[in-house]
Amino acid sequence: MGSRTRMPVLCTLMCHGRLGRAKQKMFRFIRKILSILSFLLAFSFTLLWIRSYWYLDEISCNYQKLAPQNHHLINVCSFTSTTGTLIIHVANIDIDLKRPDPVHGTLGPDSDELGLHSEIKSSRFPLPLNQAEIYSDVLARGVAGFSFKHESSFFFAEPHLARWTWITIPHWLLTFLFSIPALFHLRARIRRRSSLRRGLCPTCGYDLRESKSTCPECGAAAVQSPPSAG
Ligand SMILES: [Zn+2]
Repeated sequence: MGSRTRMPVLCTLMCHGRLGRAKQKMFRFIRKILSILSFLLAFSFTLLWIRSYWYLDEISCNYQKLAPQNHHLINVCSFTSTTGTLIIHVANIDIDLKRPDPVHGTLGPDSDELGLHSEIKSSRFPLPLNQAEIYSDVLARGVAGFSFKHESSFFFAEPHLARWTWITIPHWLLTFLFSIPALFHLRARIRRRSSLRRGLCPTCGYDLRESKSTCPECGAAAVQSPPSAG
């Protein structure tokens, strides 16, 4: 019985009391930060999208290590922006140093090649022939900028194994996805302002022209605050 009566009191406090308003304020603040972030990301991807018709930009990192049994492991991950598309490339290469092949001989990695390395590079069009070939091949596979390819093969020659994965995503999709939260925030902001101007509760739309400071319907404090508060 006790818990039954306590629950609505707690709920009223949470939803309508000071706690509720603090919570509302915090949620609004988080939403604001997220929508600013989403706007910045959408804007950056739009710039990258435009730039991608003149430049190829790439961020790549690779991690190389020596594994037991004399194996040289290479993990590569790269993000490439070119001609309206983002290409994500992941590769895992396993070179067996005990079994030389005609391409590598028995060469292991230099000590400065081991560990984690990253690189950012930009090339202006026209690309060098070898680079142009790689990317035109990847881009040609896709449908409307989307593609996925996974391949297991030998790294240049037997017996070294390599697994390659390519994913391409068109830039327009990234711009669109990142702009959704910002657009929702903008719509909510416009609605809120218009509600305040008409004397309605910005949260639930209740007519607040007769009320003092809080909405009797949802507990939101708004009508007395200046429009710039939101
Ligand atoms: Zn309300």
